[in-house]
Amino acid sequence: MFELNEKVIKYLDNMKEQTFSRLKELAQIPAPSGNEDLRVEFVKKWFENIGAKKVIVDQAKNVIVPINCEDKNDIVVFMAHTDLVFPDTTPLPYSEDDEYIYCPGIGDDTDCLNSLMTVAQYVIENDLTPPCGIMFLANSCEEGLGNLKGIRQIMKDYAGRISAVYTFDGSYTHLVNRCVGSHRYEVKFTTEGGHSFGAFGNRNAIAAMSDLICNLYKCEVPKKENCKTTYNVGIVEGGTSVNTIAQEAKMLYEYRSDDKDCLAIMQNFFNKEIEKAKESGKAEIEVKLIGDRPCGGDVNKDALDYMVNLAVSVSEKYSGQKCVINSGSTDANIPMSLGVPSVCVGSHIAYGAHTREEKLKKESIPIGLKIIAEIVLSYFN
Ligand SMILES: [Zn+2]
Repeated sequence: MFELNEKVIKYLDNMKEQTFSRLKELAQIPAPSGNEDLRVEFVKKWFENIGAKKVIVDQAKNVIVPINCEDKNDIVVFMAHTDLVFPDTTPLPYSEDDEYIYCPGIGDDTDCLNSLMTVAQYVIENDLTPPCGIMFLANSCEEGLGNLKGIRQIMKDYAGRISAVYTFDGSYTHLVNRCVGSHRYEVKFTTEGGHSFGAFGNRNAIAAMSDLICNLYKCEVPKKENCKTTYNVGIVEGGTSVNTIAQEAKMLYEYRSDDKDCLAIMQNFFNKEIEKAKESGKAEIEVKLIGDRPCGGDVNKDALDYMVNLAVSVSEKYSGQKCVINSGSTDANIPMSLGVPSVCVGSHIAYGAHTREEKLKKESIPIGLKIIAEIVLSYFN
């Protein structure tokens, strides 16, 4: 089995300071999904400065650094996302103490991207040539309503050429090898409304929406062994005042499953309920699909097992901590739905992802560097 040699370990050791100071810089650059331009510019310039022969920014705002990819139909992708859940467009608040770095997005996914950059730097500076094609990728739109736009673009532009995808995201105590697919909808109700007293009896958009919500919550999720299926109404809004029959109401609804048959059953159920609601005539109803993450497709089990074993064993070796395997909704959803084996692994210990209190344990950074390096460099053997 491949192991990091003295030279690499020494290199990573020497790069600790540089990696750390770049993390501090990168972490403060705002990058809401779809508006990652400032981070894209930073990452692109940085790769050009360290001597990457080719750096591409595509229409989805992915930064792509291909190594030996010309004419190759066997490309392994190593990626981490640039976008954050935070809408900030001004520098993000950054602070640290002896133990932690505090910054929104520091763990999800700034540190993973930053450590991947250091490993890519080793490859580029040493002009390493892998037997397959390798793509280093800083992708856009992983979070929320970004709807995985970045990785979708890559799988489209390199269709049929990508053989494996490693996405570095989150803590090294978790690995995702199974995709949670989801559909997210905005459902809008409109009626003529009117004065609550004078026009009493007119249709009420909120009452119509409540009916639908009650019916959606009568759903019994499909039961299938080892599968989990869920649903949620996350936001409701509407109405004008206490003495107005509501003319408009809106809700956000999603369902999720790690099994594609169960996801299809949920879709069927939702469509039927919408049809029933429309037929009732209680309101005009408009449904907008605002998120669509597919479940895994037919993936070669041996190929996926190889990747899972590699990532778990490397992670546990360097961290000394158990790496738990579970299902999740990540950039891996898209390649997996297309049958390309993919795993999502992390590079640190962090707490409070998706909150402004997010913090990253400093001493976990060099551990993550080694984890990423050993996974990546095993493909250069
Ligand atoms: Zn993430």
